[in-house]
Amino acid sequence: RTPAKFNITDGAMMRDLYKPRKPFSHKGTFGHVLLIAGSYGKMGAAILSAKSCLQAGVGLLTCHIPKCGYDIMQISVPAAMCITDEQFDHSSSFPSEEEAKKYKTIGIGPGLGTAAGSIWALDKLLDHYRQPMVIDADALNLLSTNPKTFAKVPENSILTPHPKEFERLFGKTDNDIARLELLSQKAVERRLCILLKGRYTAMASPDGELYFNATGNPGMATGGSGDVLTGIITSLVAQGYSSRDAMLLGVYIHGLAGDFAAAALSQEAMTAEDIPAYLGRTFLTLH
Ligand code: AMP
Ligand code: MG
Repeated sequence: RTPAKFNITDGAMMRDLYKPRKPFSHKGTFGHVLLIAGSYGKMGAAILSAKSCLQAGVGLLTCHIPKCGYDIMQISVPAAMCITDEQFDHSSSFPSEEEAKKYKTIGIGPGLGTAAGSIWALDKLLDHYRQPMVIDADALNLLSTNPKTFAKVPENSILTPHPKEFERLFGKTDNDIARLELLSQKAVERRLCILLKGRYTAMASPDGELYFNATGNPGMATGGSGDVLTGIITSLVAQGYSSRDAMLLGVYIHGLAGDFAAAALSQEAMTAEDIPAYLGRTFLTLH
C-alpha cells in the first residue's frame, strides 16, 4: 500500500505545534517521566537520555537504573531522581502497577542491555502500563525477539528504530520505497507512531501518514545521538504533546540542535552531549 501523500516537516509547522508555557504553570504541568535505561558499561546512554529529557522541558524525571549506575547518574544529572535495581539488568524492580501510575509516560531502552531478566521485566510492565511509551534501542531489540511482548505495547506508543533495529523488528525489504511502505503499514496495523532514523528521518503516525524531517547533519553520526532523541521525545509526551506531535517536534528539534552544535563546533568535534546543550537555542527559534 503506497501512502497517499507524504509531508516534509518545517519550522513553520513546528512553530504551529509548539505550546508556549503559561505564566502560572508549575512542574506538575509538565509531566513526570520514568526513564528506564543504562546497564554496566552503558550508563552514558542513560545519562545522555536523562539530560536531554530535562533540557527538553520535562517537569520531573525519575530514572530507573541498575545499582552500579547510581553514583554516576546522581553526579551527572543532579535534577533526576533515581530508582535503582539490585541487578545489572533491570530485572528485580521494574515499577509496580501502583508506582507506574505516577508517570505520565515511560521512556525505555537506551543502554538497557538485552539480558533475559529485562524481557521478563518489560513484559510484566506492559501487563499493566497502558499509557503511550517511547521505546528505543535495546528495548526494541527485546521486542523483536519476543512477539508476544511486542503485541502488548500500548497504542500510540512511539518506536524509534535506526535501520538495523527496524529490520530486526519488521524484517528485510528489497528497497527504500518498500521499507517506507512497511513503516507506514506497521504504524497502522499496530496503532503506533514509528520513526525510522537516518539523514531524512521518516515518521509514520497510526493513521498511516508519512512525514520526513530535514534537520540534522552528519555530525550527529556519533554514538549517543539516538539516546538524546529518546529523551527529547519522552519529555514532549510528558508535557502534553500528542504522540504524533511529540514525534514530529522531537525529531525536528533534535536535528536543529545538532545543526547549531555543528555550526559552533564543527561536525567532527561535536559529540552527542552537545545536542542537548544546544536545545536552548533551538527552542528560541520556536517562540
Ligand atoms: P542512533 O543510531 O540510535 O544513535 O541515532 C542516530 C541519530 O542521529 C538519529 O536521530 C539520526 O537521524 C541522526 N543522524 C545520524 N546521522 C545523520 C546524518 N548524516 N544526517 C542527519 N541526522 C543523522
Ligand atoms: Mg540508538
